[in-house]
Amino acid sequence: MSLIERIEKQINDLSEFTSTPGKGTTRLTYSKEDLLTRNYIKNKMMEYGLTVQEDGFGNIFGKLEGTLKDAPSVMVGSHFDSVPNGGAYDGPAGVIVALEVAALFAENQLTPKYPLEIIALIEEEGARFGGGLMGSRGIVGTLSEESFKNLRDEEGITTIEAMSKIGLDPTLPKRRNPNNIKAFLELHIEQGPILEEKNIPIGVVEAIVGLTQFEVTIEGKAGHAGTTPMDRRTDALVAAAQIISQLPGFAIEEGEGTVITTGRLNVLPNGANVIPNKVVFSVDIRSSKEKILTMSSSG
Ligand SMILES: [Zn+2]
Repeated sequence: MSLIERIEKQINDLSEFTSTPGKGTTRLTYSKEDLLTRNYIKNKMMEYGLTVQEDGFGNIFGKLEGTLKDAPSVMVGSHFDSVPNGGAYDGPAGVIVALEVAALFAENQLTPKYPLEIIALIEEEGARFGGGLMGSRGIVGTLSEESFKNLRDEEGITTIEAMSKIGLDPTLPKRRNPNNIKAFLELHIEQGPILEEKNIPIGVVEAIVGLTQFEVTIEGKAGHAGTTPMDRRTDALVAAAQIISQLPGFAIEEGEGTVITTGRLNVLPNGANVIPNKVVFSVDIRSSKEKILTMSSSG
């Protein structure tokens, strides 16, 4: 089997661990499907000569020691949970490719300079416990023990209860010392149309966009649609429409992937024959430029 076939096969293997067969991949954190996937990944890690460890969140690490003693690790990997009825590639592609990196070291009997750690992260999607990025937030210490313990799924099951059910140990070490991490590399599928449309096989992420959301309230003056002359109106919706129609232009002007969306609009009193006296609309801005996000959220 060629390397490509091997990667394809393993991604397909993982897609079988789903609670919705025939309807995409559904793999919630700490579920039966999580356990099956976990065992598959751990077995591959051992097969490729890695030392396997799990942390107190259930993240999986497979380590290949380097020639440098006590050096920080180069981590390669992604997440292995999935949204309900998700695709086969979101997450697993990054985990499997990372495993194959380790396999290449083993097959060619190479020892890296820095330790190589293959990592498979839990609950990136937040589909069971909400919030998302739980595994990676846990590792870097931005998810406190307290808030981790208090998370519950839709049925009221806590993280700790769910972990115990599949034999995971929440008392294992959680936070990683950042000095022990040299780099982190993640391969991930494209979730927009750009690369695929241009037939570019791979893109390198230059920045993770920041996100800000806020509401704009426009106050006008109510009046009867039939009896208020046009030059006497303070129509909140007309004002809002003028502002909203300019937002796409701002985004295009800023460039570098800046996007602005208004997706929610509340018009008051929302009657067909009443001039609107109040409009509240949402603005969602995503940009790789911090300046744009902080400027907008401070008004
Ligand atoms: Zn993903």
